[in-house]
Amino acid sequence: MTTYEQLFKNNLQWIEQKTGSDKDFFNQLAKDQNPDYLYIGCSDSRVTAEEIMGLGPGEVFVHRNVANLVNSVDLNVMSVINYAIRHLDVKHIIVCGHYNCGGIKAAMIPKDLGILNPWLRSVRDIYRLHRIELDSITDEHKRYDRLVELNVQEQCINIIKTAALQLTLQEKGYPEVHGWVFDIKTGRIVDLNINYESILKDIKSIYNLTNQ
Ligand SMILES: [Zn+2]
Repeated sequence: MTTYEQLFKNNLQWIEQKTGSDKDFFNQLAKDQNPDYLYIGCSDSRVTAEEIMGLGPGEVFVHRNVANLVNSVDLNVMSVINYAIRHLDVKHIIVCGHYNCGGIKAAMIPKDLGILNPWLRSVRDIYRLHRIELDSITDEHKRYDRLVELNVQEQCINIIKTAALQLTLQEKGYPEVHGWVFDIKTGRIVDLNINYESILKDIKSIYNLTNQ
């Protein structure tokens, strides 16, 4: 285990490394943030945000929670999405799940999990929504992987349901919404190629908040 004291030594090394290649690095960083990306991912310690995308400080606005959920009554994630779209003017929103997700696994087991019950309930709801497809997958691991993917897809749809996304998309033509799964075994990002514009068109009669 890395000791607590070591974290501060690491920090000094990181500062040296950053200023070594760019003396002005922290002056520029302190000015403002102007990220093009909003990343919503899982809290899992193995799935970092910036590192897997090769991005650095200032390049991505990040929100992480257990099982990368976008719940409409979660003030935290909704504030992040609203701020990212309306103030930071992000061009891309990424929901990134990952295979071997403990949150998704827990939701597949019908069991009392205390405070996690309401949180994971929305994943159980996704299972119910896609029950025919999921129950037809006999291999348990494959079914688990598929629920990880379907969860990402449904969280993308939850973003598409927000007024911030719909109004900004109508006005500016962005942000684009992307669904990814990070494969822990290979390190690769799998793009689920979610067609958010066609989904929006499809669900517009129910979720349209643009008054048009
Ligand atoms: Zn996870």
